[in-house]
Amino acid sequence: MPPFAEARIDLDAISANVASLAGRAPGSRVMGVVKADGYGHGMLPAARAALAGGATWLGTAFVSEALALRAAGIEVPVLAWILPPGEPLAAAVDAGIDLGASALGTLDEITATAHQTGRQARVHLKADTGLNRGGVAAGEWEAVVDAAARAEADGLIKAVGVFSHFACADEPGHPSIGAQLSAFHSALEIADKAGLRPEVRHIANSAATLTLPEAHFDLVRPGIASYGLSPIPALAGFGLRPAMTLSARTASVKRVPAGSGVSYGHRYVTDRETGLALVPLGYADGVPRAATNIGPVFLGGKRRTIAGTVCMDQFVVDVGDDPVAPGDATVIFGAGDNGEPTAQDWADVLDTISYEIVTRIGARVPRAYV
Ligand code: PLP
Repeated sequence: MPPFAEARIDLDAISANVASLAGRAPGSRVMGVVKADGYGHGMLPAARAALAGGATWLGTAFVSEALALRAAGIEVPVLAWILPPGEPLAAAVDAGIDLGASALGTLDEITATAHQTGRQARVHLKADTGLNRGGVAAGEWEAVVDAAARAEADGLIKAVGVFSHFACADEPGHPSIGAQLSAFHSALEIADKAGLRPEVRHIANSAATLTLPEAHFDLVRPGIASYGLSPIPALAGFGLRPAMTLSARTASVKRVPAGSGVSYGHRYVTDRETGLALVPLGYADGVPRAATNIGPVFLGGKRRTIAGTVCMDQFVVDVGDDPVAPGDATVIFGAGDNGEPTAQDWADVLDTISYEIVTRIGARVPRAYV
């Protein structure tokens, strides 16, 4: 019996998307960004698929994610860029994980770890060029670069990279893009004057990889586009293929009279005698409760809308008189080739981004890799 629901991941799509991204940045290496369980697609299979597509680096948010890649035998360079206090830095240095340093304090901790463990740490200095999130602020950059140069001279670290991250690369033409690029060039010059010779300078996320060749530098870091979802939904034609299809088996179908209130709160009321299909996926599985009465699904050969409140484990679809039967597949989202909604369609109705749709699929939903 097929499972009650399934997130089917097309690994060839991930490889093909990465290959296509690599083709758009011919002079640069590609880092497959696989944080957050590979954007919900499964970190290890996504990492292997990205490597098969030509990525030669991998990127994660946390050291724990990077260590899991190493534990699975993946030996390519892996950069982890969020290092809250208490991260297992010694284990990271020991495993040869590249560490992003976004503050002098973090660089000092990494240097101290290298000193204690007797192993050189691989460091990427992160400049805040205008996102004002992580990264070293412009006023502190020189001090951080100087400290890195000293630690490198002492053999404690290798300054492998200098990097930054865009705030608005998904809005082509946004004035902050040029400002961030020029701030990044200044940061690189300061690093150069301090004697640092990073092997990889990098700032491009998916949007910049797709639309901003001047931001490619030595390495590009696409995440969402590797999974086939556009970082710039308004621009079509990137040739990406969505890798994830989320579906569920219809659990039951029943007839109810006109005027029946459906699901918690009776927020949907039938306007005629009709069939109601029960789909065994709910907000615990990543179908947001906010999709009540607006979430699109594909069932019985048609696009339909969720009827009434999304519950923890289930939602209802009004199928009218259509011959829908228990066991029939309801596709929540997929590549969109057969009429089914896409993750972007879900993002549109929920006023969010596709990233949030695919990363929120619950652990209870079995993943199937094809
Ligand atoms: N680089 C960094 C530092 C990130 O935080 C992220 C994701 O948030 C990415 C690259 C990948 O971004 P995207 O998924 O938009 O390509």
